Amino acid sequence: MRLENRLDKYNFDESFDLVIIGGGINGAGVARDAAERGLKVLLLEKNDFGSGCSAHSTRLVHGGLRYLEHLEFDLVKESLHERETLLRNYPHLVSPLRLMIPVYAGNKIKMWKLKLGMLLYDWLSAGKSLPSHQVLKENQHNLIEAGIESSNFLGATFYYDAQVSFAERLVLENILTAQSKGAICLNHCEVSEIICSKVHGSYHAQGVKFKDLLNSKRPYSVFAKNIINMAGPWVDKLNNRLKETNSFPILAKLERRIGGTKGSHIVVKKFRGAPYEFGIYNEAKSDGRPFFILPYKIGMNDEVYLIGTTDIFLEPGEDLDSIGISQKEINYLLNETNELFPDAHLKEEDILNTYCGVRPLPPTKKGKNAGAVTRRHFVINHNKELVDNYYSVVGGKLTTFRSLAKEVVDLFTSNRCFTDSRNTVGSQYPSYLNFYDYIKEITKEYSQKYDIDAHSILHLLMLYGTNTSKVLDLTLENPLLKSKINKDFEDIEAQIVYAIRYEQAYTVEDILLRRISIGLSTNKFDRDIIKTISYHIKEEFDLQGRNRDKYQEEVLINDFNN
Ligand code: FAD
Repeated sequence: MRLENRLDKYNFDESFDLVIIGGGINGAGVARDAAERGLKVLLLEKNDFGSGCSAHSTRLVHGGLRYLEHLEFDLVKESLHERETLLRNYPHLVSPLRLMIPVYAGNKIKMWKLKLGMLLYDWLSAGKSLPSHQVLKENQHNLIEAGIESSNFLGATFYYDAQVSFAERLVLENILTAQSKGAICLNHCEVSEIICSKVHGSYHAQGVKFKDLLNSKRPYSVFAKNIINMAGPWVDKLNNRLKETNSFPILAKLERRIGGTKGSHIVVKKFRGAPYEFGIYNEAKSDGRPFFILPYKIGMNDEVYLIGTTDIFLEPGEDLDSIGISQKEINYLLNETNELFPDAHLKEEDILNTYCGVRPLPPTKKGKNAGAVTRRHFVINHNKELVDNYYSVVGGKLTTFRSLAKEVVDLFTSNRCFTDSRNTVGSQYPSYLNFYDYIKEITKEYSQKYDIDAHSILHLLMLYGTNTSKVLDLTLENPLLKSKINKDFEDIEAQIVYAIRYEQAYTVEDILLRRISIGLSTNKFDRDIIKTISYHIKEEFDLQGRNRDKYQEEVLINDFNN
């Protein structure tokens, strides 16, 4: 098969039950749930799966302790319930995270209020698998085995939430599971128009037009009973474009739905005083905003830290596709970390990576604090705006994607939802063993079978779960694929081949940033890594009889350098 014809195997003449626009965590969750419940699903993603907002979060799977301040008890309860579900269903991707909140004289949050909040948080998560909170008194600073500031220290609390360091793979696992249940999920396919008919004074969405961006933007049309805009921060951009392209002319008045805020993060190497056994949830000295300093555990790679985030309303007209971290944000995150860890002395040169995303939050009144905008989600039926069979989803969190998906799919079918109990393709764990015993057993077994050290096996298990053996099987075919891609990281070359053959990766960026772990930790990597990935892309496309013409060279291989 040639890459130009990558979509030829699909039959777009038959009508779909549901077309999902956007392959972030929410679109992927809906695709999986809908396909599992027997709907005929097509998902279209303009870039790569999980490359939007879902790749730019703080990567916490959390109840949202902060939302208690805004009295959003139902959101906290839902999030805590989902935290448990994700811990149970994705143990290789979602792991418990111990967090500390230090309190200093002068902080906005007072110790009594924090203790009260903690009691409530524990109460709302009754029956949880994670331990309850602990309080540390003023004179117990010495018990914190970390170099945090000791002057004006009034005490601290420890509590548990969870972390999904490789959120991109959580998205992918839902995409692959949706596909295993019959959904068609296509990356690098951009929706440009909604096909509409006018019925009794309102518009009836009937399908979409989309372009294959890897194939000279070749256009396709597909028909569906229902269409759902799950483009995250791009929800309005897409709706506006639909108006411009006359998908919904004149009559329909699609309202503004997104009032996003920008949030940035930095990734830094291990620094003096930083704990790796727990994360810190701290109040910034300069403006009293909360921010996190987290161990960023990606497989078995070396210790790095994720620091963030900021929360800034977007400027009118700011381009969502070229948003980036500002110097002011970098200084803010470095300064606040140095304030908390007096021996850290972090400088800009210590930054390994930065990323920045836009929260797809609803619009809010002028003057409202960005942090106070609700993090709950809204499913909008546009029939009130005179467009039938067309929906948009606004807001949400990584944490609640499963319950959001259930709510969406319930609109289209009364078939039972199984996503709380059935596992995804990488989570097919035997029920007679707990996850840690399984890992122990299987690491030993694979280490012998594939002749690879236990550390490397563990790394793969944390990324691929029960699909690890499929990655390792490639090394039986070609033992050279056991080689590490780069000496400083645990990823092996088999992962590149696996990504191309089984995970719909087409570009260097798809592989480096969203399939293997290297691109998450750092953007200061050896250029040889790109050469290795490019080599395998060429080899694989040749193997599968694809043509390596100029177009592919430019688009698939050199894209990362541009
Ligand atoms: P996205 O992931 O953005 O997916 C939408 C997709 O639509 C994109 O991939 C885009 O390419 C695609 N698209 C757009 N237009 C088109 C088109 N025309 N055709 C086809 N595809 C299109 N949540 C938590 O639970 N925990 C956290 O710690 C957390 N921290 C956060 C920190 C920050 C700074 C941010 C920004 C968010 C954070 N969130 C967190 C929220 C969470 O990341 C988002 O709510 C979630 O990822 C949104 O997912 P989504 O699928 O709706 O959007």
